[in-house]
Amino acid sequence: MAYLTLKNVNKIYPNGFHAVHNFNLEIEKGEFVVFVGPSGCGKSTTLRMIAGLEDISNGDFLIDGKRANEWGPQQREVAMVFQSYALYPQMTVYDNIGFNLTLMGVDEDEIDARVRKTAAILGLTDYLDRLPRALSGGQRQRVAIGRAIIRKVGIFLMDEPLSNLDAKQRVTMRSEIAQIHRSTGATTIYVTHDQTEAMTLADRIVVMKDGYVQQIGTPYELYFKPANVFVAGFIGEPPMNFVRGKVHNGLISFGENFIDLTAWLRNPEEYENKEIVFGFRPEAIRLTGDDNAYLIHSQVELTEMLGDNTNIYITTGDKQAILKVDSHDTPETDVPLDFYIPYESVYLFDGETENVIE
Ligand code: ATP
Repeated sequence: MAYLTLKNVNKIYPNGFHAVHNFNLEIEKGEFVVFVGPSGCGKSTTLRMIAGLEDISNGDFLIDGKRANEWGPQQREVAMVFQSYALYPQMTVYDNIGFNLTLMGVDEDEIDARVRKTAAILGLTDYLDRLPRALSGGQRQRVAIGRAIIRKVGIFLMDEPLSNLDAKQRVTMRSEIAQIHRSTGATTIYVTHDQTEAMTLADRIVVMKDGYVQQIGTPYELYFKPANVFVAGFIGEPPMNFVRGKVHNGLISFGENFIDLTAWLRNPEEYENKEIVFGFRPEAIRLTGDDNAYLIHSQVELTEMLGDNTNIYITTGDKQAILKVDSHDTPETDVPLDFYIPYESVYLFDGETENVIE
């Protein structure tokens, strides 16, 4: 049985705004699940309903098979880390980490042992006497995480914990969070709008948009088998290229090129005169090809050499796309470029529903 279960969970705020629609998810004990999606998609609201900080308007929330809708945060045994670290500014790192245990009446020797162990896990041993204002952003975030993990709760909830850190600190803290998860084994739900964080941390990702779950899957499934245009465009950097067009005689136009879809559509006549979205990832293209690829003629508009790879912005007719190649293959700008889209890297979506065509 799943450890946490959300069954048709909905959130309708008092002003009538329906923020979360029929959310269904089962989470196994020890799993690391990431909710990802653009701002306002309902991920924090869902997390707060799991934490017991927000009422569930309808649907069921179960912990270990028991209905927990009415349980308070204490009874749910959750610890939460917020985007704002919410540390006590007048308390040392030691006291910030141990404060929850003090409130719970745990004896001082045990608090001391647990604070020191937690500090050691988080690399904070040398900072125990400092006040939060004398710490870097990354160190403060570690204290906030320490305060949460010291409680040895079964469920660990994190809402955009890295968003106040700079890019380098985020990468470091990301791997630390993964290590903490491995060492504590706590069931973790992590909210972010950053697809890289989601891909690197998650056992499974829940992609949300406008209050609706779009897809639930492993990072591999979301990248290779996106359910719809939104997920395909959200996961991956630079995002997947989409060519939208009406099918005529089994072909769609990609600027100056015609792409023959007859081999791909199980029933090509069904899509004749209908809109289709043809997708390919920037990194899937090749500069040399064979019979198992579409040859595309284009023009280089701009290149961005990023070190190990180069992004090439191309146009063909009135259409644009981004290609990602090894930086040794960086072309000149304003020159023609032929490239190949291997057949196995092609995604087709229904133009109306935007769902993938299997
Ligand atoms: P962000 O990344 O910006 O935090 P999010 O995906 O976490 O976004 P939520 O905070 O869950 O989004 O908000 C979902 C939607 O619910 C938003 O449109 C938001 O404006 C709305 N909302 C949030 N809190 C309330 C409230 N108390 N009353 C009414 N609407 C709310």
